[in-house]
Amino acid sequence: MDKAKVEIESLAISKLLVVVAHPDDIESWCAGTVCRFVDAGKHVCYVLCTSGDKGTNDLTLTQEQVAEIREVEQLEAGRILGVDCVTFLRRPDSEVEATLALRRELVRQIRFHRPDLVITHDPVPPYRLHPDHRAVGRSTLDAIFPSARDPLTFAEQINKEGLQAHIVPEVWLFATETPDIWIDIATTLPRKIESRLAHTSQHTDARELELNWHRRAAEVGKPLGLAAAEAFKKVDFR
Ligand SMILES: [Zn+2]
Repeated sequence: MDKAKVEIESLAISKLLVVVAHPDDIESWCAGTVCRFVDAGKHVCYVLCTSGDKGTNDLTLTQEQVAEIREVEQLEAGRILGVDCVTFLRRPDSEVEATLALRRELVRQIRFHRPDLVITHDPVPPYRLHPDHRAVGRSTLDAIFPSARDPLTFAEQINKEGLQAHIVPEVWLFATETPDIWIDIATTLPRKIESRLAHTSQHTDARELELNWHRRAAEVGKPLGLAAAEAFKKVDFR
């Protein structure tokens, strides 16, 4: 696929589901795009597999306290962008594995939310990759195809929980080394940064973070001549 700028408004997508490992993953990689979907009147929900309970150097805090702080920060970040719902699966941070149990839970989330588009981590190399990111990206793709589609897979969700099988036609992977689509985030970059700053436990210097995110957005946009962008690898499941 050639490098292409995609216009959110032209897509036949009404529901977006973003599945990530940790609080602040969305704000770091795809919040500018999420904001574009919200601005276009689309329904947007988040699923977070962990609550980032190991994301601190403050040893006076328990992991439960860290998780609680980070969930509050994530909810505020979602509120700033105007997303419709945030679900926490509360798996232990840094211990996420691509198990059948995780796939079953992600299939449940997909069958419940019934998105037209899922955004998640690219699970393939670089070699320097958080194992939770790899596990969540891999499990989300495996949940979409073919598990969520096939009614006999995790059939109890259909027979006992009232859910229906669901086909997700398209997935966009962020933090990818092989992007093929770009989203112009010039209008949403300020809100992306504001939502990242809502994760107050995860930075010490807000000004430096702001400059970094401006620099990164400009760098990503460069190949297509965009002032600020996010890039994704598109995977088609039609
Ligand atoms: Zn992460």
